[in-house]
Amino acid sequence: MCLYLVGIGPGKPEGMTAEAEAVLEKCEIIAGYTVYIGLLQERFPEKQYYSTPMKQETERCRWALCQAADGKETALVCSGDAGIYGLAGLVFQLSGEMEKPPEIRVIPGVTAASSGGALLGAPLGHDFAVISLSDLLTDPAVIEDRLRFAARGDMVICLYNPSSKKRADYLKAACDIILAYRSPETVCGYAKNIGREGEAAGVLSLRELREFQADMFTTVYIGSSSTLRIGERMVTPRGYRTVQSCLRENRAGKRRQTEENTASAFGRVMIFGGTTEGRLLYEHCREQGIPVSVYVATDYGCRILESRENQEQQIHTGRLTRQEMEEIMRRERPVAVLDATHPFALEVTEHIRAACTAAGIPCHRIRRTLPEQDSMPEALCFDSIKEAVSFLQNREGNILVTTGSKDLPFYTALPDYRERLYVRVLPDAKTIAACVELGITGRHLSAMQGPFSEEMNIGYIREFDIQWMVTKQSGAAGGFYEKQNAARRTGVTLLVIKKNQKETGISLEEAMEILEELK
Ligand code: SAH
Repeated sequence: MCLYLVGIGPGKPEGMTAEAEAVLEKCEIIAGYTVYIGLLQERFPEKQYYSTPMKQETERCRWALCQAADGKETALVCSGDAGIYGLAGLVFQLSGEMEKPPEIRVIPGVTAASSGGALLGAPLGHDFAVISLSDLLTDPAVIEDRLRFAARGDMVICLYNPSSKKRADYLKAACDIILAYRSPETVCGYAKNIGREGEAAGVLSLRELREFQADMFTTVYIGSSSTLRIGERMVTPRGYRTVQSCLRENRAGKRRQTEENTASAFGRVMIFGGTTEGRLLYEHCREQGIPVSVYVATDYGCRILESRENQEQQIHTGRLTRQEMEEIMRRERPVAVLDATHPFALEVTEHIRAACTAAGIPCHRIRRTLPEQDSMPEALCFDSIKEAVSFLQNREGNILVTTGSKDLPFYTALPDYRERLYVRVLPDAKTIAACVELGITGRHLSAMQGPFSEEMNIGYIREFDIQWMVTKQSGAAGGFYEKQNAARRTGVTLLVIKKNQKETGISLEEAMEILEELK
């Protein structure tokens, strides 16, 4: 005989699937948590029921497995879906201990994320993470990490078990973690007693959610940076096309406000530029009459932009910190941010993205599609070390190599490599031996664990009279920015070996389309 693991949906009879209903109809025994049994008894009065209170799950599962093994069609019911924070997993594990386990079938049900989402609108329209705040079976440190990473990934977060008598302040603690990554104005929602007596749902800000008293029959939703409040509904638009039309609506709304309050800068597009793409997008805005502010890091970036007579356009020069970006975004509330900075300005791109997330502004990274003649010659980019080496062959000066020991043989193509190379590798005996074998020794070889500070890089550059520094495009963890800043401060040219990975983001054409929609 079969043991059915039946998800009965959120509560009300209509919330159960037809399959679940048919299975319960044919089973002799129905087992489950006392509350759910209560929900079913009225509907299927003829059955034999077995209920245990919470925390006696193992006993309940063992009992149900034995009944089915003894030849009785048995259903073990769970609210929502039996496989989502339900008993399905435990049943499979326990069946492994049995000599002759019964057949086990899982009948899916509508989980709380989905039924609560329906009450709120469409909060889970884009990527989301479901996290349970219950620490009965999970280490609290793991829960905190998962919250952190989901928030960092700008996912919509759906929280199960947000609270219980013993853990009354868990939701507040979770909000505090998420507030480090998301604006207090982030659109959030809750759904309570879904499909049961006392059903309620509401939309609120992350700041308000922090003070919200959730109970164990509440499911909580924390929006991503693109989640919207539309009337009393919580909506996460799907994909950028949909975002565009919402933006357009927002913008139309903001225009109305602008008319009422002409002093404000509502409805602007904010471009971070300094590249050809930035210039083209800026020109497009001007042509289309879209108010735009452009932020460029240097005068050079500014020069590539055309005249600035028109009052509607604004060009700002100077490097901004992440904090400053966020402040400007909060003040100006642009309808969208277009990040058209140089592809090697990785740090800037990270800052723009973080500032947008914090300020709750949609951010679009523009993928590089044009040659880089107009970009600042701060970094030279190569597809491979081999290419970088052949570039160096025709140039003089000492080279700081930070690309690792494995690729060192490529550098021996330089005729005077023993004199010109200053190599930094990991302090590992084999690695050092390989370097020595190549003839890289003495002051030319440093073995030390990185990443290195900007000051340390500058120290190397000054000590060994470095002209060129070769690095992989490694990001923050590889100490890339410290190298980039050291090179910038000392006038050394940075040679960057590109990642094979394709650049992410939207194309220039797609960005133009977004602007088109904003008109
Ligand atoms: N298997 C269930 C989840 C069990 S974990 C499912 O798939 O839905 C228990 C948590 O689920 C609760 O703390 C609450 O966050 C959520 N939940 C389950 N039923 C709910 C309901 N009717 N209304 C609101 N939240 C519910």
